[in-house]
Amino acid sequence: MFLADYHIHTSFSIDSDAPMEDMLLSAIDKGMSEIAFTDHVDFDKKYYPEPDYESYIPVFTALKEKYRDSINVVFGVEVGLENKWADKINAFTSEYPFDFIIGSSHAALTKDLYFDQKEYFEGKTKQEAYYTYFSELYKNIQTCHDFNVYGHMDFVSRYGIYEDNSLEYRDYSDIIDKCLISIIEKGKGIEINTSGFRYGIEGTYPSMDILKRYRELGGEIITAGSDSHRPEDTADHIEYAYDMMREAGFKYVSVFRGQKAEFIKI
Ligand SMILES: [Zn+2]
Ligand SMILES: [Zn+2]
Repeated sequence: MFLADYHIHTSFSIDSDAPMEDMLLSAIDKGMSEIAFTDHVDFDKKYYPEPDYESYIPVFTALKEKYRDSINVVFGVEVGLENKWADKINAFTSEYPFDFIIGSSHAALTKDLYFDQKEYFEGKTKQEAYYTYFSELYKNIQTCHDFNVYGHMDFVSRYGIYEDNSLEYRDYSDIIDKCLISIIEKGKGIEINTSGFRYGIEGTYPSMDILKRYRELGGEIITAGSDSHRPEDTADHIEYAYDMMREAGFKYVSVFRGQKAEFIKI
């Protein structure tokens, strides 16, 4: 059975110290047919370093070649999208020959949800904080042109400071629909990010109701990713994510070549 983990970090990301080769070997071990390395590039230089693709590309290329008979490895990136940095982001994404780009909201209103958690959430009700996150996400879709799938699109709930951080589609349906429709119209997709199973929500980002809504609105481009930062988490819940896709009505998973989606029957 074809299985692809399309969201994997390595020691080239600030929050991982796993060598790329270890991540690759664990993916082979767990039966992945294909993976995408999607190390972080975020543009708030207060917190994030400049990416070093001069050293990245040779390591990536050598490993891709070394294991080509066992697994297909895709040159990807996870870019932190923020409309404030749109010009820089668009310049960056066209500078390197990425096969696949995840665009993710790690910040809203220029506040990083992890580093500036207090500044972003304090003084806002849950409804305001989550709604604003999706409004910002919508702006990012309009201004950042070069992503292929939106990463963990309801991820704001991971950092909520509320007694109950859960996020229900029905409470934000108008703005979430607006985002999904725009993603579809622009020929882009979303991912099912399984890291929620490791961050206490016992589920995926986004949840099943958002996934079903995306399909209902005509969404076809979909990937699944573990968002692993350690070899033991690689491929985590990928089969589960494929089951979710089938249940939501998807017949194909997407893989990417030169940022063009190709469809593989699931
Ligand atoms: Zn992310
Ligand atoms: Zn990630």
